[in-house]
Amino acid sequence: MKDAADHVRQMGLDISDLESDFFVPFLDRAEKRIHDALLDMSAYSKTQPRDEPKDHEIEIFSFPIAIMLVVATEESFIKSRYALAEAKRASALLENEEKEKLLEITNNFGWNAKLVDDLSFQPYSFTVNFPIFLRNATGFHDKNWKLVNHLLVDGAVYLTTREVSRLLEEEVRKYIENRLDTTIRSLPPALFDRVNKLRELAAEKQEQIRLEQMPERVVMEAFPPCIKDVYNRVSAGRPVSHLGRFGLTSFMISIGMSSEDVFSFFRSVSDFNERMTRYQVEHIAGTRGSGTKYTPPNCATLHTHGICVSRDPECQGAVNPLICYKRKLKNIPEEQPVEEAESTTDNK
Ligand code: SF4
Repeated sequence: MKDAADHVRQMGLDISDLESDFFVPFLDRAEKRIHDALLDMSAYSKTQPRDEPKDHEIEIFSFPIAIMLVVATEESFIKSRYALAEAKRASALLENEEKEKLLEITNNFGWNAKLVDDLSFQPYSFTVNFPIFLRNATGFHDKNWKLVNHLLVDGAVYLTTREVSRLLEEEVRKYIENRLDTTIRSLPPALFDRVNKLRELAAEKQEQIRLEQMPERVVMEAFPPCIKDVYNRVSAGRPVSHLGRFGLTSFMISIGMSSEDVFSFFRSVSDFNERMTRYQVEHIAGTRGSGTKYTPPNCATLHTHGICVSRDPECQGAVNPLICYKRKLKNIPEEQPVEEAESTTDNK
């Protein structure tokens, strides 16, 4: 990706050049990359680059063009989904690469990783300095990713090839997200249609996620800002803290979603570990373990942990997001199915 970007930069291309007929196949491929990433991230991550030299060129050049189209949409949902989809695709493509190739790519990102030759260290194949490990593993919730569960010698963390690929995926995702964090002052008119089509597709996808995963009795419009923000982050495949995930899960359970609904939601929008996610959801719902059904953390706790990002008028004096939700429900027109959700929160 870095090579592709450098290559395009060296050619001194101007954004207006993209209007010429020569670039139509490149634009088509760029648009399709984003389209497929939005529609089905998992299927997109498994697509292989085509082998023909001409296709190879289109593949390389379409990436920076896709970045430009995504930036032009100015939609955070598209940016996050696209960054994650490309990172997953890169990770899948790297899966069968030689260790030396992986090493080269890690060092493109300045990791200073090393191969482990000593067979007594098997199954580890690489070492990376622990700040690099922490930088990329922070958002992972599986306990296997905790530093204490890794071999650490003289500041070097020992990793398997598979772990290095997963950390690289995170590095690539952040690299792409950084590149998307910009604006385009003016877009050639010929590209407007493509950008608008992608915006429409993203809106349809968001609506589809909402309709498929939310039972009718849940009123998303009444979600408090804190929960809505976590929900949007999860939907877009962005990292969410453990407390944020706990808050969202316990909130959804508390307003009447079944464990299965909540589990399906997490499964449809992210790559969370299925077994762990099911365990956590059922634990929070009280159908496993102690039998205690958990309610969301109070506003003060969410505020301390940076999850209370902005407030609605209904937040005034609320101590828990469920109170804000209940107040907001009262302002939703009658035809909305509020009663069921209201009676659920009344029992808290
Ligand atoms: S005040 Fe409470 S309900 Fe409102 S956004 Fe903050 S944490 Fe959420």
